[in-house]
Amino acid sequence: MTSLDDALEAIRSAVGPKGWIAEGDAMEPYLVEQRGLFRGSCAMVVRPASTRQVSEVVALCAGAAIPIVPQGGNTGLVGGGVPEGGIVLGLDRMTRIRDLDHLNQTLCVDAGCVLADLQAAAEEAGFLFPLSMGSEGSCRIGGNLATNAGGVAVLRYGTARDLVLGLEVVLADGRVLDGLRGLRKDTTGYDLKHLFIGSEGTLGIITAAVVKLFVRPRVRETVFAAAPSLEALMELFSASRHAFGDNLTAFEMVPRIGLEFGLRHVPGVVDPFAARHPYYVLIELSGIGVSLRETLETFLAGVLDDGHIADAVIADSQARAIELWRIREAIPEAQRFEGGSIKHDLSLPVSRIPEFVDRATRLVTGELPGLRVVAFGHLGDGGIHFNLSQPEGADRQAFVARWEHFNRLVHDLAHEMGGSFSSEHGIGRLKMDHLRRYKSDVELDLMRTLKAALDPQGIMNPGKVIEP
Ligand code: FAD
Repeated sequence: MTSLDDALEAIRSAVGPKGWIAEGDAMEPYLVEQRGLFRGSCAMVVRPASTRQVSEVVALCAGAAIPIVPQGGNTGLVGGGVPEGGIVLGLDRMTRIRDLDHLNQTLCVDAGCVLADLQAAAEEAGFLFPLSMGSEGSCRIGGNLATNAGGVAVLRYGTARDLVLGLEVVLADGRVLDGLRGLRKDTTGYDLKHLFIGSEGTLGIITAAVVKLFVRPRVRETVFAAAPSLEALMELFSASRHAFGDNLTAFEMVPRIGLEFGLRHVPGVVDPFAARHPYYVLIELSGIGVSLRETLETFLAGVLDDGHIADAVIADSQARAIELWRIREAIPEAQRFEGGSIKHDLSLPVSRIPEFVDRATRLVTGELPGLRVVAFGHLGDGGIHFNLSQPEGADRQAFVARWEHFNRLVHDLAHEMGGSFSSEHGIGRLKMDHLRRYKSDVELDLMRTLKAALDPQGIMNPGKVIEP
């Protein structure tokens, strides 16, 4: 086996002077996550400029059993890209758009392409790449795939996994798996790309991808509606799906308390209605047809008659649409001003959301009377932020100290009801114990078997997702 020093020297010469960093300050952005929850250290940050260089670096690491932590934009928030020794392999110099196929509606991109740049390249070609999230100015497509990112358009377009046709991956021994095919149909055995999507760098390094492009919507309608109950909101969701099919691109639930927090703390948030209502929904429709307005107005009149909604406004301008979206987007920001909060980023079968919210609310308020439940989110794709704000006037530290206790109560219930404790962001370091608790023995066994088969030395992002 090569010594560490010899291997690092060989890596430096493989990537050239621009391809590595070993100085304290310049390494810093690769060692710490935005929220500061995780800080790591490593022998060197390596920044290859091509798949060939990634392959050489990984082969050299394999020869000396050096751990490798792949990193995209480092926006992951669960500690997945933070190193504990070894090297960080940053994809940030691999940003090329390799190929655009108009007729096939696909783009082939390097894994280090920033998501916003990929969206812009699609737009320039007259298409839409629908993956979109708050971190899109910094996160990179390789990171998005490695975490199977969700974002704001899952209801219509699915998660990152649904947007990919082919992958190029450097395996743990340095070999290159070239699966950059732009095929929508391919029944030639195991679909290997799916192993790497969502594997958070523990099985291989994604170096490029072929992604799907979509026709850009030409019309958009934004509605903010008030509902008398969560059950009524579910009826509205079902009716909306039947009325609008794929034109329904967002269905975001806002509870009254979420709107109130926004009104109290976030400039620009306004209540569109004179009366108070227990629930609201932000609906977005988009399409390539002439107009959706007439169908929308008829639809809203019908659901008003049926009692599924109590009131509604349709945005009559882009500025008004932004104002309505602001109500939904302000909730996490506003919650910070209400003292300590304990968060849960769950996913459930859509049909079970009302029962879950009811049972979980009774559970947590039974533990701590006065606790304020703020349950909001992407109702349409089953994603729900079940956030808890401390009782008014309570001690913040004492409340937040109960984080794990409330996590356990809420996650156990979500699990019992067929849900997931992690709808987005992945496992990283943060949720490894949750994974152990909620995955079955068979699932854990299969995950370990795959890890051992693809990374027998355990050098690919060790200490993340699942232990050997
Ligand atoms: P990194 O943070 O660099 O890495 C994440 C994980 O993937 C690590 O385990 C890393 O080792 C691995 N990895 C990175 N690149 C590769 C590669 N090329 N090959 C193999 N493994 C790799 N996430 C959502 O899903 N939906 C959201 O709506 C959302 N909103 C966010 C909003 C904000 C403001 C922030 C800060 C984060 C948000 N996130 C969201 C989380 C994060 O942006 C996503 O998880 C994103 O996909 C991570 O991409 P990245 O390039 O930053 O990856």
